[in-house]
Amino acid sequence: MNILIIGSGGRESAFAWKLSQSPKCSQLFIAPGNAGTGQYGTNVNIAVTDFEGHKQFALANAIDMVLVGPEEPLVKGIHDFFLNDEQVKHIPVIGPQSEGAQLEGSKDFSKQFMTRHNIPAAASKTFTQDTLQDGLAYVATIGLPVVLKADGLAAGKGVLICTTVEEAQLELVEMLTNAKFGAASAKVVVEQFLQGIELSVFVLTDGNNYKILPSAKDYKRIGEGDTGLNTGGMGSISPVPFADEEFIKKVEDRVIIPTIEGLKKDCIPYKGFIFIGLMNCDGDPYMIEYNCRMGDPETESVLLRVETDLLDLLSGVAEGNLNEKELAISDKVAVTIVCVAGGYPGEYLKNKVITGIENVRGSQVFHAGTSLNAEGEVIATGGRVLAITTLQDNLFNALQQATADASRIYYDGVYFRKDIGFDLI
Ligand code: AMP
Repeated sequence: MNILIIGSGGRESAFAWKLSQSPKCSQLFIAPGNAGTGQYGTNVNIAVTDFEGHKQFALANAIDMVLVGPEEPLVKGIHDFFLNDEQVKHIPVIGPQSEGAQLEGSKDFSKQFMTRHNIPAAASKTFTQDTLQDGLAYVATIGLPVVLKADGLAAGKGVLICTTVEEAQLELVEMLTNAKFGAASAKVVVEQFLQGIELSVFVLTDGNNYKILPSAKDYKRIGEGDTGLNTGGMGSISPVPFADEEFIKKVEDRVIIPTIEGLKKDCIPYKGFIFIGLMNCDGDPYMIEYNCRMGDPETESVLLRVETDLLDLLSGVAEGNLNEKELAISDKVAVTIVCVAGGYPGEYLKNKVITGIENVRGSQVFHAGTSLNAEGEVIATGGRVLAITTLQDNLFNALQQATADASRIYYDGVYFRKDIGFDLI
């Protein structure tokens, strides 16, 4: 099969690494990819939202499957675009159509979905400029802290956790009246704060059958001890020690099955990954959010533990017979440490030459924000530059190995957290 992966981050590097190992994979293309994805396939210079470009490329290269990494093309309807085009509608796209992608694209839509299908989640109400006064009153009644969520995609920045009623009211006005997050905050979900430990569970579905992939925990803050600004993700571990069989069974019964059944009841076709962001509140799972794709840097850790052929699983999604496919998961522990650019997540250093990748021995190096310069050197061009992922017998060894290997990388301003996962030992 000829496969086209859409995206350019660490997640897509991990997909490319894994798919390139499949005996069924003939040719692999990554659009646009990065300086590392070229080792697994061929990079193609097409932007992630250039659907016409993807179509023309797919036709010219006899593409048999399109795997979409990031949310933006899904929410903007890449799957619908392929389905509605006579020339490419036969090519399966892994990732939901735009309606299913609304689970991520609209917090209000996803909260309504959870309520409709009795999926445990924090109490909430949605407000617009027209109902601002009701919103200001509601904020004062739901207890502190108050969680405010811009309805639309806001590059991961649209959630505010306010510790006083005054702050929450001020921010609600900023979001609704002063368009703090542009059109994304024309609607705001005001939500109760959930106390607990966060984790992510990943599901692959053909719209009818599903497979539960390994759970993972990511580390969002820039600073050690989970301090400082939020980032796209500084590291991840899989499995999550407290997400034992009993807990995952609760997640399956209370969240996963109602989600798959809910999609069917609502006549929303869904072929792809569902990222379930959860809070473990005293042993019970509560939904925080859905994403319509895999997480980054969770994918890197999760895929190192998937022992079966990923392409076989994705074919099951495309053909609607995922139930007939095997999914074997390693008992070992995967840890990912992300090396970021100096200054990230603020203004950060760019175009610094990266050295030392060849010295990494016990980890996979998944490229994220990297490019090749005119001299053919690998340079850091994005905020999150490299994901260093290792698979070891236990969490302690995995943390040591990943930290040692991340230390072998050098570029001007290189930074990574040395405490990923240490809270769980
Ligand atoms: P989201 O974009 O919905 O994932 O929210 C971003 C982050 O805000 C989550 O990863 C949580 O850490 C936090 N968060 C969101 N909703 C809640 C909630 N109801 N209670 C506590 N923390 C939350």
